Amino acid sequence: LISSEKHAKHLAYHDQLTGVPNRALLFARLPEILEGVGHDFPQLAVLCVDLDHFKEVNDTLGHDAGDELLRQLAESLRTAAATISGTLIARLGGDEFVLACPVCDRIEAEGLAARCIDIATRTIHRAHGQIELGCSIGVVLVDEPAADASAILRRADMALYRAKSEGRSRVAFFEPEMDEAFRTRRVIEDSLRDSLRRDAFNMVYQPQVDLHGRVPSVEALLRWTHPDLGEISPAMFIPLAEERGMIMAIGDFVLRRVFQETAHWRHLRVAVNVSAVQMRTAGFAAQVLRLAAQAGADPARYEIEVTETALLGDGPAIAENFEVLRSFGFSVVLDDFGTGYSSLSLLHRFRVDKIKIDRSFVSALGEDGEAGGAEVSALVGAIVKLARSFRLGVIAEGVETEEQRRQLVMSGCTEFQGYLTGRPMPAGDVAERYEPGANLRRLAQTA
Ligand code: C2E
Ligand code: CA
Ligand code: CA
Repeated sequence: LISSEKHAKHLAYHDQLTGVPNRALLFARLPEILEGVGHDFPQLAVLCVDLDHFKEVNDTLGHDAGDELLRQLAESLRTAAATISGTLIARLGGDEFVLACPVCDRIEAEGLAARCIDIATRTIHRAHGQIELGCSIGVVLVDEPAADASAILRRADMALYRAKSEGRSRVAFFEPEMDEAFRTRRVIEDSLRDSLRRDAFNMVYQPQVDLHGRVPSVEALLRWTHPDLGEISPAMFIPLAEERGMIMAIGDFVLRRVFQETAHWRHLRVAVNVSAVQMRTAGFAAQVLRLAAQAGADPARYEIEVTETALLGDGPAIAENFEVLRSFGFSVVLDDFGTGYSSLSLLHRFRVDKIKIDRSFVSALGEDGEAGGAEVSALVGAIVKLARSFRLGVIAEGVETEEQRRQLVMSGCTEFQGYLTGRPMPAGDVAERYEPGANLRRLAQTA
């Protein structure tokens, strides 16, 4: 009995895969360890260690290889941590580990973090290319006792977030202003939820212009005005919504509103942005079809814009959504083309209709003689040729100057979008300018 009780306790407090303590044990022990700060040792360094590119190992080499790697890593981290007495190591889940180490000062903590990075850094060779494995680390230094364990871990996590966003294989220490940034995110998150309940968003539409200056299509862009903070860019709140589980609801709003506002247009095509999370969700394509049908919108007039991350990853949902959308007549545009790792192989796997040359290339098309301009120009030319050989449409985004447009034309690009040729505007304005009779049709419909 005694031994089976011991065994059960061990199971409850240890990670099955790696054998190191789990989250439950970490939370049980951390308060006790924190009490020793300032008495038994000067400071406690809490490190959040998170592997970089681990998902690629799982995706391409399989879960067994991923498991084996985690076991090895846990063992090496445990050995490294053992050199500092009183250290606790735990696996929080996934590819995230926490180390709580009594240290003398920041320098000792930095040394430990550097050792962890060394341990995790390795190159895994595959049949096609290689995976550069590494880790990012967030550190919080605690120098007074009785601090709250979950607050400490949250801070280490914020520092980790900073480390990841500064590029991989980095160490970031927690700083008080991160708490501030975190609170702002919380405020924004709360009002985002609130706005979602009230449908308090709008869509605007940006013209896409061809070589003759005609406008065959527009891109729908989401707009949100925060009650206190004013207009907030979707580039900020969409990633937040993805992280906090709100993107499906926002995506539904976008599709519903876009179909409603544009179903009665006859000529203009409409591009709608779709998040990677949506593409990865089983049944997403069916939901798009439902919403289009409800509004009486013809799929053939719509383009779904996805980034390449939306097409990456395993699981059958992505390919299925893609095929369903295309088979019902939607076009698919590969957005931000050329910024990811695998644009080329994706073109082979997914029959997209059009690619969109990323704004970063367009803005680097310098004035004549500017450094790097010729290289970027060559890149753009290569992308256009690639698109042609796959018989795809190609459009450039972020076109701001006449010079950029000229160079794009020279490279063979035939469609342009940007402040030079038109700012985003409400549906009514688009219809008035580019859809003769549309507003009348709308009136007739509602009457
Ligand atoms: P994106 O899909 O690359 O959209 C183009 C962005 O570039 C838009 O910013 C647009 O206003 C801006 N832009 C257009 N012309 C120019 C130009 O000449 N110069 C410069 N510097 N910028 C220009 P916006 O509307 O802030 O959207 C930012 C990003 O947010 C979008 O990037 C897209 O990734 C995401 N997003 C916007 N609306 C939606 C949506 O309805 N659903 C989803 N999932 N994402 C959206
Ligand atoms: Ca887009
Ligand atoms: Ca883009």
